[in-house]
Amino acid sequence: MTTSPTTTDLTVETALSEVSPRAAGVLTIDLPAIAENYRRLKAAFLEKAVAAVVKADGYGLGAERVAPVLVKAGARSIFVAQLDEALKLRPLLDRCHPAVALYVLNGLMPGAEADYAEHNILPVLNSLGEIDAWTAFCRARGTALPAAVHLDSGMCRLGLPPEEVEVLRGDPERLAGLVPTCILSHLACADEPGHPMNAEQLAALKAALPALPRAPVSFCNSSGIFLGRDYHFDLGRPGVALYGVNPTPEAPNPMQPVVQLRAKILQVRQIDAPQAVGYGATHRATGPARIATVAAGYADGYLRSISNRGHAWVAGHRVPVVGRVSMDLLALDVTGVAPDVLRPGLWAELLNDEQDVDALAREAGTIGYEILTSLGARYHRVYLD
Ligand SMILES: *Cc1c(COP(=O)(O)O)cnc(C)c1O
Repeated sequence: MTTSPTTTDLTVETALSEVSPRAAGVLTIDLPAIAENYRRLKAAFLEKAVAAVVKADGYGLGAERVAPVLVKAGARSIFVAQLDEALKLRPLLDRCHPAVALYVLNGLMPGAEADYAEHNILPVLNSLGEIDAWTAFCRARGTALPAAVHLDSGMCRLGLPPEEVEVLRGDPERLAGLVPTCILSHLACADEPGHPMNAEQLAALKAALPALPRAPVSFCNSSGIFLGRDYHFDLGRPGVALYGVNPTPEAPNPMQPVVQLRAKILQVRQIDAPQAVGYGATHRATGPARIATVAAGYADGYLRSISNRGHAWVAGHRVPVVGRVSMDLLALDVTGVAPDVLRPGLWAELLNDEQDVDALAREAGTIGYEILTSLGARYHRVYLD
């Protein structure tokens, strides 16, 4: 199926014409689409404050490119997972806006307190032990320093478990040395609106909040925003939806697609007799067929589980992945494509308007998050702005 070119396609075509002939694969990242997704999430969050999660290098798309776009779109709180990620981003954020709070979700690692304080990075305190370490550090410095406090409302991952919340309820002085800028909690099943865990976590959070000092409360990841205003509290904390993945898997995607992925055809084989294709000989062409070998593989984040299951687009035709995906290569059955258009250097489209990240994730038996964060470092990257 072919589609008429849209404005975006024309921009992509222009950008691709400037890509080096060396490029074996090109990952296109639409920065205005990320800004638009931020605005859509903010509208769904009823225009209250919305942070942006840019952990794992901006879900694989380049934190240093996407974070400034999100700050410009209005984000005044940025979340990463690791202190190293925060240290890399801090100077860039300072150049974008004078007052962007930068939080580290994975919390305070013992001995790293000074790195947070010196670089204006806020730890998300995930246990009483981390609270005690931060307040001890504050006392030694003679000043109360800001931090977020994370309550576990039922996910059993990070955050203060209920018994530690009860300790705080009985001993509010324990937090005296720090300035809580945010109380956060994380939903385990927000992408399943009917899951009973959602209401249970909401009730657990509401019961825990009086044990803590007043501060803006942040509960909703991308999918949580769509659970409705009861779940919203003060600060949204979306990640994946900013990058175009559907936060409402049971309904049409309210987000704009952000990435496109192409890799070059290296060779086309005409097969006339029965012939096996690829490692393990898992695909067997039984009669005449054409097989295109394409320059992307599992080392590029094109997951091996897509073997014999996935699809790509060549010259407007949807074509199946045949045989096993190998480290650097995959094979497509292009028998249905006119032979005169098939030539080395022609792009095979792996992610496009017809097949978004969620669709490829389904073919790979995984989720959009894993597809995005796996996209390898070998692609040439084209940022549309
Ligand atoms: C990753 C993460 C988010 C963002 O989640 P998305 O599902 O990508 O929107 C928010 N909060 C915490 C604690 C996270 O780990």
